[in-house]
Parts: sequence; structure tokens; C-alpha cells
Amino acid sequence: MQKLVDIAFGVSNGSLSASDVVEQHLARIETRESEIHAFNCVTADQARQDAANIDADVKAGKKVGVLAGVPIALKDNMCTRGVATTCSSKILEGWKPPYDATVVSKLRAAGAIIIGKTNLDEFAMGSSTENSAFGPTKNPHDISRVPGGSSGGSAAAVSAGFVSGALGSDTGGSIRQPAALCGVVGVKPTYGMVSRYGLVAFASSLDQIGPFANDVRDAATLLEVIAGHDPMDSTSIPQPAPSLVSVLDHGVSGMRIGKVTDLPEGCEPDVLARLEAAFDALRAAGATIVDIELPSITYCLTAYYLIAPAEASSNLARYDGVRYGLRIDSPDLNAMYAATREAGFGDEVKRRIMLGTYALSAGYYDAYYGKALKVRRLISDDFARAYKKTDVVLTPTTPSVAFKFGSKTDDPLAMYLCDLFTIPTNLAGHPAMSVPFGTGAHSLPVGVQVLAPTLGEQAMFRVAAELERAS
Ligand code: GLN
Repeated sequence: MQKLVDIAFGVSNGSLSASDVVEQHLARIETRESEIHAFNCVTADQARQDAANIDADVKAGKKVGVLAGVPIALKDNMCTRGVATTCSSKILEGWKPPYDATVVSKLRAAGAIIIGKTNLDEFAMGSSTENSAFGPTKNPHDISRVPGGSSGGSAAAVSAGFVSGALGSDTGGSIRQPAALCGVVGVKPTYGMVSRYGLVAFASSLDQIGPFANDVRDAATLLEVIAGHDPMDSTSIPQPAPSLVSVLDHGVSGMRIGKVTDLPEGCEPDVLARLEAAFDALRAAGATIVDIELPSITYCLTAYYLIAPAEASSNLARYDGVRYGLRIDSPDLNAMYAATREAGFGDEVKRRIMLGTYALSAGYYDAYYGKALKVRRLISDDFARAYKKTDVVLTPTTPSVAFKFGSKTDDPLAMYLCDLFTIPTNLAGHPAMSVPFGTGAHSLPVGVQVLAPTLGEQAMFRVAAELERAS
């Protein structure tokens, strides 16, 4: 696999041409994309143009950015000016955003080349990409299995070698879960570290953009580029991006690693075995393992499936056939709204809108939404207590390795359980990342999740780097 940092180094010193790099990537996409379906669209012409511009800058002796000439794939829920942004939904058919998301502007400013938009579960609701209106993405390790979701296209694109870096969004696990199932690194930063301006909203208090890469250093490099304060996002943290690459070689000697003693049941033994191996590796590298308790963790899934749909029901009200994409003409306005939504939204999106509307309705608001917010507070309190005793926490990323297509589509609850271990950090707003750590059943990749407190990315990346060295 080509490292993102090596491409950027080569392009900026003139030993690699950005145009050649783009052609190589397009050729790789050409070989296997019909089988994998990682992309909703490949922006080859624009990528070639951007590469030519970078090469010209290098020739002219101009200073180029840290991602000079690096092809990057974007989850198709991030706005790209003049390029279709579909959220893998029929309701956005034909819509082209008039502006770039902040992450896109930042990538471009750093010299990265956007090579395409990747497939996802419709509006990022799902764990397998089976909810995409355009058909699922396949797991490059075994095409009879899901890549995870909702950012399955981005994870698969990196895993298949189509790109060495990609962006995804994570509301309940949508970066970390597909990263684990596809055997790549995936990071959900602290809420507010990366601007959400231009990210199509699912559940605004949980959504966060983050990187996918083949290794921890590449992920850190990408995150450094996209992080930082943005006045266009009122929830953006007003401080500069953290330095991450600089800490990767610091080791874990003296660090405290939390082991959750009351982890919810439901994790497969092959995955738990890898988690134990990860604890052993960190202990061998000089860290201390400490037991911690997160008593409210068992309520997180339920709370999430009230809070996220509640916010979604409000956010998705804007798709009314008037302002965006699809419109089904009807005799009157209300009939047009109904016909457009009926035709434009898939089943899972409709389910979430109904669940959320119900949870927010008069008479049920306190019992459901209000209760869920209390659980959100409890899990934050649990984490606050735990982080007095430990620097980071280690859990599985997902309960199992990649599963077969169709095996969970008839049972929404089984699908929701994929997020058992990833949701708590979204509720708390904390950072967490998945690092590949060997294989489990069917020789498929297993991810270990490193969790840290708010703005604890440096500790998180140090531990992730150590796990990578050990594996
Ligand atoms: N799988 C979860 C859901 O369907 C998480 C999705 C996400 O993080 N975007 O809500």
C-alpha cells in the first residue's frame, strides 16, 4: 500500500509527478471498482486538472501543501461545489452544492486531490452500506461480506488501495466500525475538533468528520489537516489543530490503559481474544492496565436510537421537494411533500424519521427524548470518573468481524447492535479510533478501539501507534 506521506513527500520534492500518481490511482480504481462499488462518482477530469496544477506549482518552485498530490476520497455526504452530493439517497438526485465543505477547502489548500465521492448508507443511517439507494459496497477482504457502514465506501476505497486516505463521518460509529471490518485505521475526533460546515446533517450533536488511512501516521497527518477552528460551525472548538504526528514515537511507557470490567455482552470470542492480545502488547510496552467501570454503557444504544432519530427527524425536514433534488409533482403542496418523501427516502430513513418524530411528540418527549438525554449525562459522568484513573480506554470496535450481505437486513435491532461499543463516545463527545489488530474468524480483520477524553487525541494516537507496532 502506498503511504500518503510518501506520495506527498515525493510530489513536493519533484521525484513523483502528481499527474502520474493520479493516473496510477485511477488505474487501480478501474481494475476493481466494478466489483467493490466504493464510489458514487469518480471525479477523474477534475483530479487530472488539479494534479497538473500541482505539478506546475512544483516546477515553478512554489511551496506546496503537506498533502501535495495525494488523491483523497470523500464520503458522499460532504458538500463539493458543482459536484453531485447525494448522501446515497434518491431525494438529493441532481443536487449540486454551491459551496465546498470546510474539510474539502482545507484538503485542497493542503494540496490534496479529491478523486471521488464514496458510497454510504442513505444519510449515514446504517452499519453495512446496504441502505444505500445505489446498491451496497463490497468488503475488499471478502466480497460476500459487508464493508460496514455507514462510511463503507470510504473504508473499502482505502482497503482496496484505491486511495491512501479518505474522509468519513461518525455519528454512532460510522468511521470506526467500517474501518474495523475493512482492516484500516479510522478516527472519530473530539466533537467540535473538525468543522461540520458542509457536512449534510444527520444528528448534529453527534456528527463528526474524521479520516481513514492505512496506518496511524497517515491518519494523524490527515486529521492535522482537517482539524481546527471554523467560524462557520458554531460548535467548532476555538483552538488550533493538535499536533499528532509529533507524538507517534513517544511510546506508552507509564501510560494507564483502562479495561472496562462491565463491558456489555454480545462480543464474539475471536474479537475478545484480539482485545486481550492488545492489552498484553501494551503491558509489554510499559503501560499499566487498570480496571474501570462504565455502569451506564448498557443504556447507550437505547439512548442513541432516541437522540439520533430525534435530531434526524428535524434535520431531514428540509427535504421537501422544494429546496433540494427530487420533486414529485402533485395536485397540491402537501401531496407534493408526501409524494416526494415517499419516493425519495428509503425504508431505514423513513423508520428513523418516524421514530424521531414520535420520541419528540407532545406527551412522549419527557419519557423518551428527555430520558435519553439523562442517559447521555450519565455516560459522560461515568467516563469522567474513569478518566481520573486512566489515560485511555481500550474496547473492541465491533462485536464481530465483517458479516454476510443480507444477514442483518431483516432485523434492525441486530444491525443497531453493531454500534454497541462505538456509540458511548459519540454521546460523550469524546475521541475514539479503530486500529487493525490482527484477524479473527474467517481470517477477517479485527479492530481494537482506543478511547480518550475530550481533546485527548495525543494520548489516543500514542496508544494506537504502539498497537500498530505490536501488530
Ligand atoms: N450505525 C449507526 C446508525 O445507523 C451509526 C451511523 C453513523 O455513525 N452515521 O445510526
